Amino acid sequence: MWSAEEVLGRDAATLWHPYSSLTEPAPMHLVRGASGVRLQLDDGAGGTVEAIDAMASWWCMIHGYRHPVLDAALKAQVDSFSHVMFGGLTHEPAVRLADRLVEIAPEPIRHVFFCDSGSVSVEVAIKLALQYQVARGNNGRTRMLTVRGGYHGDTFAPMSVCDPVNGMHSLFTGALKEQVFGPQPPAGFLRAEDDPEYLAWAASMRALAAEYRDQVAAIIVEPILQGAGGMYPYSPACLKLLRELADEHGFLLILDEIATGFGRTGTLFASEHADVAPDILCIGKALTGGYLSMAATLCTTEVAHTVSSGPGGALMHGPTFMANPLACAVSLASIDLLLSQDWAERVGEISAGLTSGLAPAAALPGVKDVRVLGAVGVVQLAGPVDLKRMTDAVLRRGVWVRPFRDLVYTMPPYVSTDEDIATITSAITEAIAEGN
Ligand SMILES: *Cc1c(COP(=O)(O)O)cnc(C)c1O
Repeated sequence: MWSAEEVLGRDAATLWHPYSSLTEPAPMHLVRGASGVRLQLDDGAGGTVEAIDAMASWWCMIHGYRHPVLDAALKAQVDSFSHVMFGGLTHEPAVRLADRLVEIAPEPIRHVFFCDSGSVSVEVAIKLALQYQVARGNNGRTRMLTVRGGYHGDTFAPMSVCDPVNGMHSLFTGALKEQVFGPQPPAGFLRAEDDPEYLAWAASMRALAAEYRDQVAAIIVEPILQGAGGMYPYSPACLKLLRELADEHGFLLILDEIATGFGRTGTLFASEHADVAPDILCIGKALTGGYLSMAATLCTTEVAHTVSSGPGGALMHGPTFMANPLACAVSLASIDLLLSQDWAERVGEISAGLTSGLAPAAALPGVKDVRVLGAVGVVQLAGPVDLKRMTDAVLRRGVWVRPFRDLVYTMPPYVSTDEDIATITSAITEAIAEGN
């Protein structure tokens, strides 16, 4: 085994990490193992130290690490076959998973396109929407209508609908499709439909939809909770309005549930809070229980049949690793494991633990807001987080977090115990109390 020094030295010299520089490498921790909700981090002295993964590896690891049911599903599929091309060939894991997804997705979602990652599923969703409008003879409808504050991934089409200020637009001016941006929905899950801020937002969205009617193919948003754009919940009323506008103007509604899907906000899909169904649905992240990279773009029969009978005659996408059997097998096991338990009650208990555990943070100096939705807890500071100081201060208390911008937040695995949740919230609160 390589020493920690050796691994970290070679890592810094060779490897890109997410949003990283190779001339100013960020501090790095070495994982030697993981099980349940805990990571085993190399302590630099020949041993390991445990930390609760309060990030669930960026929303994915809902059942924890090395879950016996998921491990077994993956091993069984390895012993059968690990991959085949999906052009002209099919297999039971893909068909079973597609069936299960259609069963649990909001009506009237009926069809499934498997792809490699969340960003690609958004690419495919946008492609579907564009092909749909061409098939309907609406050739000028090539833009997306969205709201500020969103995050939809890092490839070019998703980047174009990410928040234009906090996203990466300024770096790629001229290379990104110019989309239509409405204001960010007013903050807060509980905002009523007669609230003045809601009414003002709704009026702006109505006006934009009418103004750009002939240019817009689809509305795309993250329902109810904007994730990596700011960990920002908004009210179901806003989502209902977007559905209405889509119907009124002939836009499709694309809901990006890559972060919110599979129970994270307290309902299986966040759109259920608003009783709104999309025309196109993107899922990823927790789909495989965090084991492998896979995502999917789902759509209604209306969309599927219109695109299939359009000028292309087909949906023009086909990744090499489409419907990878290992990923399908572990996804099916993960969904069945989730549905076999009272996951909604567990998410509710985690939510209650995060709410009471993070409440004291609201009174701390330098804290702007504390908010919880489902199994997501967020502390927003008054200014940017000192990433290294905060990460280390929380880690000293046995918890792994990855703050960004002004946010220290957690979306723990659903298998976290009440005690784990209390450890997470007190580690975050104490680290913030030490100052930023
Ligand atoms: C993470 C995320 C994506 C991108 O998924 P990748 O698998 O990282 O490409 C897209 N949309 C949302 C809402 C996400 O949270």
